[in-house]
Amino acid sequence: MNTITQTGLQQRDRAVNWHPYTQMKTADDIIPVVKGEGAYLYDLEGKKYLDVVSSWWVTLHGHAHPYIAQKVFEQLTTLEQVIFAGFTHEPAIQLSENLLKLLPDNQGKVFYSDNGSTAVEVALKMCIQYTYNQGKKKNKILAFKNAYHGDTFGAMSVSGKSYWTRPFENMLFEVVFIDTPHAGNLEDLKRQIENIADEVACFIYEPLVQGAAGMLMYQARDLDELMKYCRAQGILMIQDEVFTGFGRTGKLFAARYLSEQPDIMCFSKGLTGGTMPMGITTCSEQVYEAFWSDDRHKTLFHGHSFTANPLACAAALASMELLLKEETQMNIKQITRQHSVFVKTLELHPKVENARHIGTILAFDFKTGYGTSYFNEVGKKLYNEFLQRGMIMRPLGNVIYLVPPYCITSEELDYVYRNITEVLDQFKEQ
Ligand SMILES: *Cc1c(COP(=O)(O)O)cnc(C)c1O
Repeated sequence: MNTITQTGLQQRDRAVNWHPYTQMKTADDIIPVVKGEGAYLYDLEGKKYLDVVSSWWVTLHGHAHPYIAQKVFEQLTTLEQVIFAGFTHEPAIQLSENLLKLLPDNQGKVFYSDNGSTAVEVALKMCIQYTYNQGKKKNKILAFKNAYHGDTFGAMSVSGKSYWTRPFENMLFEVVFIDTPHAGNLEDLKRQIENIADEVACFIYEPLVQGAAGMLMYQARDLDELMKYCRAQGILMIQDEVFTGFGRTGKLFAARYLSEQPDIMCFSKGLTGGTMPMGITTCSEQVYEAFWSDDRHKTLFHGHSFTANPLACAAALASMELLLKEETQMNIKQITRQHSVFVKTLELHPKVENARHIGTILAFDFKTGYGTSYFNEVGKKLYNEFLQRGMIMRPLGNVIYLVPPYCITSEELDYVYRNITEVLDQFKEQ
């Protein structure tokens, strides 16, 4: 009989699996995980890890949540999948109804897909075809420098240029990149937009937090002003809430910090509480109406095999039910409160720059004192140091951040803060 060992699994994994964002040749040992419970993941040898990054920002209520599991199981034994062209099902109807109730009131229709990147692809296609269906031709798209909207080609095109996108650069479509707004550059941004406004189909942005760029944050009032200007210029707005949605920023959606309303919104990640892959693109009735026609050419010809998969819908319904509970909302407030205190302590540390937080997201820049080539090594060192202390943290370059699941207790959060401080102190002398 074969006994399964950690090293055995690691060898088998290396033989067959190619991991995301991983240079397989130089990668450290990849850890086989056998169980998840609450804020913890367990490896084969029983070592537990506090999941401080919510497994790439998706887990909301903790791992293997029994309520979500129960709802998915019930759905699995009733209806697991059905073609969503020509057919529908109650979980998709209920989920759309429930979600729309929580969104800005101009959002009227829900389009399903599988993940964050596809939610963005759908949004871009809606905007481009919106103008096409009206007999106009608008070829330009506006996006922020440092943006991240996913890894498929359309999503890569509207993401900031980096060494991630470099091999594909001449295959990506044209996008005009602008700085994120602040009080000092708004007039300049408006001038830049004014010059090309007639040709711009849409403006896509991550509201308030640019996640993958390193948790870069900017102000709601500045985004509001930019949105107001885009609206006046007839530019459609795509608000990518794939990361910020479902409570991360302390409110249900980043949209709740804004008075302006986007035309289109994208969701994924926390949508199902991090249990099942699913993407959603919502749009206003105004966008929808541009496709509403007796002319079949005006159809949105887009769909995925697993569009509105009933299991994912059941998971999303259960997760949103948990999210709206008083207890969860209290936890989000508690995390926010603790973060706001820890940020003040961090600011005083000599190895820390730009300590910042919004809601449950906290980030700071680790001061290396070395050139940029050193950054990656530092990131890796920190990653391993945190791992040894039983915490999963994945610094983005020299940016250290926390995006914990909402079930994390204040003791567990204090444990994380204490360990961050100790690790920073270790590096103080270097
Ligand atoms: C992660 C992310 C995406 C892409 O989602 P995937 O499910 O990984 O394809 C898109 N937009 C934002 C803002 C994200 O953070």
